[in-house]
Amino acid sequence: SAMVRFSDVTKTFVGDNGPFNAVDGVTLDITRGEIFGVIGYSGAGKSTLVRLINALELTSGGTIEVDGRSITGLPEGALREVRAGIGMIFQQFNLLSSRSIAGNISYPLEVARWPKAKRKARVAELLDFVGISDKAKQRPSQLSGGQKQRVGIARALATNPGILLADEATSALDPETTQDVLALLKKVNAELGITVVVITHEMDVVKTICDRVAVMERGKVVELGDVYSVFANP
Ligand code: ADP
Ligand code: ADP
Repeated sequence: SAMVRFSDVTKTFVGDNGPFNAVDGVTLDITRGEIFGVIGYSGAGKSTLVRLINALELTSGGTIEVDGRSITGLPEGALREVRAGIGMIFQQFNLLSSRSIAGNISYPLEVARWPKAKRKARVAELLDFVGISDKAKQRPSQLSGGQKQRVGIARALATNPGILLADEATSALDPETTQDVLALLKKVNAELGITVVVITHEMDVVKTICDRVAVMERGKVVELGDVYSVFANP
C-alpha cells in the first residue's frame, strides 16, 4: 500500500522571470517500507517535491496522501499532526549549537511535551541506536560530520515517525562517512520499518541503498522504477 501518493501535483513559485512550476504534474506512489530515492541535478525540484510530503510547502495543484489520508487543504493544526509523523534530516544537520547532543535529541520530545523521565529513557535509547552514547554531554561543535548526522537521525526518529525524509543528508560528508550514514539509514528502514525517502544528486547513494528511484528534471519525473532497471546499461 502507498505510504505517500502524489496525484498530478504541481508547486508554482514566482521567480525572477515570473511564475514557474518547481514541481510540475508529478504522479507517483512511495510504497510503505521501501527506501525511495529522488535524484536529479540542482534545481530539478527534488527538495520541493520532498518538502511537499511534510507540508513544509503547500501544493498549488493536485493532491497528496500520506498514510492513506489526504493532506491537501488541511488546516494548520492538522498539518502539525501530519508533520509529527514525519522525520527529516538535512545536508547541514541543523543542530542547535547551544544545546548538548542529548539536548538536541530531546528537543522534539520537549516540543511534544513528553515527561522528563520518559524523555531521558528515549534519548538514551536513541543515542544507543545511532551509536553515539558516549557523546551525550558534548556540543555539536565537538563532533565530526558523520557524528552530527547521527544526531540528526536520532532527533528525527525521536517521536517514532513512519517516514524519514533525507535531503542531501550525505552531501557534506566524505565517501567513507557517507557509507556509514547510508548503512545507518538502511538499519532505520530494516529494523524500525520506517519508509525512507532519500534526495540526492549522487547516483552512488541511490545505488547503495534505494529500492526504487524517481529521476527529476525541471520539475517533472522523467523516469521511475527499480534502481536496477533505471540505471541498467543498455
Ligand atoms: P533541487 O532540490 O532539485 O535542487 P529545489 O526544489 O530546491 O531543487 O528547487 C527547484 C526550483 O525551485 C529552483 O529553481 C529553485 O530556485 C526554486 N525554488 C525553490 N524554493 C523556492 C522558493 N521558496 N521561492 C522561489 N523559488 C524557489
Ligand atoms: P542541554 O545542555 O542541551 O540543555 P540537558 O542536560 O538539559 O541538555 O538535557 C537535555 C535532555 O537530554 C533532557 O531531557 C535530559 O533528560 C536528556 N539527557 C541528558 N543527558 C542524557 C544522557 N546521558 N542520556 C540520556 N538522556 C540525557
